[in-house]
Amino acid sequence: MATGNINVTAENIFPIIKKFLYSDHEIFLRELISNATDATLKLKHLSTLGEAKGDIGTPMIEIKVDKDNKEIRIIDQGIGMTSEEVEKYINQVAFSGAEEFVEKYKDKVPDSGIIGHFGLGFYSAFMVAERVEIFTKSFKEDAKAVRWECDGSPQYTLEETERTERGTEIVLHIAEDSEEFLDEGKIRGLLTKYNKFMPIPIKFGTKEETLPLPEGADKDAKAETVTVDDIINNPNPAWTKQPSELEDEDYKKFYRELYPMQFEEPLFNIHLNVDYPFNLTGILYFPKLTNNLDPQKDRIQLYQNQVFVTDNVEGIVPDFLQMLRGVIDSPDIPLNVSRSYLQADGAVKKISSYITRKVADKLISLFNNDRKSFEEKWADIKIIIEYGMLSEEKFFDKAKKFALYPTVNDEYFIWDELIEKIKDNQTDKDDKTVVLYASDKKAQHSYIQDAKDKGYEVLLLDSPIVSHLIQKLETSNENISFVRVDADHIDNLIKKEDTKISKLSDDEKEKLKTVLETNIPKETYTIQLEAMDSKANPFIITQPEFMRRMKEMQASGGGGMMGMSNFPDMYNLVVNTNSDLVGEILNTKTAKKQERLIKQTFDLAKLSQNLLHGEELTAFIKRSYELIK
Ligand code: ADP
Repeated sequence: MATGNINVTAENIFPIIKKFLYSDHEIFLRELISNATDATLKLKHLSTLGEAKGDIGTPMIEIKVDKDNKEIRIIDQGIGMTSEEVEKYINQVAFSGAEEFVEKYKDKVPDSGIIGHFGLGFYSAFMVAERVEIFTKSFKEDAKAVRWECDGSPQYTLEETERTERGTEIVLHIAEDSEEFLDEGKIRGLLTKYNKFMPIPIKFGTKEETLPLPEGADKDAKAETVTVDDIINNPNPAWTKQPSELEDEDYKKFYRELYPMQFEEPLFNIHLNVDYPFNLTGILYFPKLTNNLDPQKDRIQLYQNQVFVTDNVEGIVPDFLQMLRGVIDSPDIPLNVSRSYLQADGAVKKISSYITRKVADKLISLFNNDRKSFEEKWADIKIIIEYGMLSEEKFFDKAKKFALYPTVNDEYFIWDELIEKIKDNQTDKDDKTVVLYASDKKAQHSYIQDAKDKGYEVLLLDSPIVSHLIQKLETSNENISFVRVDADHIDNLIKKEDTKISKLSDDEKEKLKTVLETNIPKETYTIQLEAMDSKANPFIITQPEFMRRMKEMQASGGGGMMGMSNFPDMYNLVVNTNSDLVGEILNTKTAKKQERLIKQTFDLAKLSQNLLHGEELTAFIKRSYELIK
């Protein structure tokens, strides 16, 4: 039997890197700038610890593109490498010096901010370069500068070179198939995408800047322009600061920095900051949800130590909060794994529930501190909150303290207030408290009016997922039921006492039903005779709550009853047998006149449900003119 070590040589690994490791070739720049950043941060840490001597100045990173010579240079003023270190860190693929540093200094510098850990980042250079050179000089006293070169084959050269400045310069000789990266605009685009908030200043060329005029300067004086370094990043973005250091305006300013093309101001923000049991910082914003909201645009951005990773936060941020904007920065999110694994990961689950909790707590405090302004924002945030109440049980529980139930009179209640308010007047004979609601103030006006006349409160619930929410509220609150105001006649919505006595005998009712059935389309309308107040309308069209809600739930996805959304709309025609007009219909002798009366009354009922359109409306108007002639 023979045993041995499998030898992963560079020869095997290069094609893998080039083809598969990173499907996105553009990330080479992010990787190299991350290394440059790490090298600079290490130097800063060592300088604070007294291990790096002398003044280190304010080191920055510079990116240069030379189209003519087909080169991209990444230059840093960090710790650099000695010849031995190049041997160790660069030649041994997959040996991470970053990991080693973090391990060595973890007690002295717990929050080092060091990015690298896979030990492969550097080799991503070969995704775009046919040849790579490193010029580097270590910060260590008497260290000699070295030059390393490799063309992607396992052979490399390493030799001493002339270089006086501390730090590293990586020269990428761009391959023919990657020449697009020699375009300055392209590189600028990558820098703003990935490196906009990295912690070390990154210079990309220069720019002209107009100096402000000195105070008291002559009106006609010309402002002076100077050429300055073009620093493409903000090394101290708002989320890296403490909430106590930030004013409302700072949060808004940062929002504009994140989404320069977004002109609408956010409604409010939530500052995330936790370091146990995982590390996470960030700022989330509730945007104003306009109708043309594009969920693919301006999404939450995920960073790791200020390096942009992705704007797909699926699995990390709970679904209902994906409509928020902002940033999350956490070194603890595993990224080299599939999304499904991510969702099962313990740390990620904790992060997701932490975010949910923080958002709920913020909403509670906004509600408690300034209820008026919270009510004003409700229309813009309700979709997110209602969606959250449906999808996260914990959020549903907390939402009791801030989820609002607005009435048609623009009053706002939280759940307990609402029930307290309606309990006495809106509890039916079976002890069920009935919450009345409307979905459209105009279309359901007459029904709302009937309810108001009885002193009932009518909620205005008009978001698209409201039928699901109602279902959920009913199942989690015993003895509460919701009905829409047009689901039945008002006396039937909240049944208080036994039915009124009918003026009509059973024979007469039978007769009435027969005449009505010959004139009313029975595929759509079920006739329901009711003994009601004689002053109530003779005909009332209602749409039974159950059918309608199931249909709505199916139409808006998830829940409801299968196949319901294809069902035609069904209505009840409630006929008030105590109404004088109904009596007249019954007793009219000529069939023609009877038909006209029925049609006219039926059309009026349809009109109040906004169901009279087209040809029928025209016929109605014509008939009405004839009647008043
Ligand atoms: P990682 O950054 O994940 O550790 P890399 O392959 O990108 O892996 O780099 C390997 C090692 O090479 C780094 O950990 C670091 O020690 C060294 N290195 C890379 N780039 C630089 C640089 N610009 N300055 C100093 N050291 C560097």
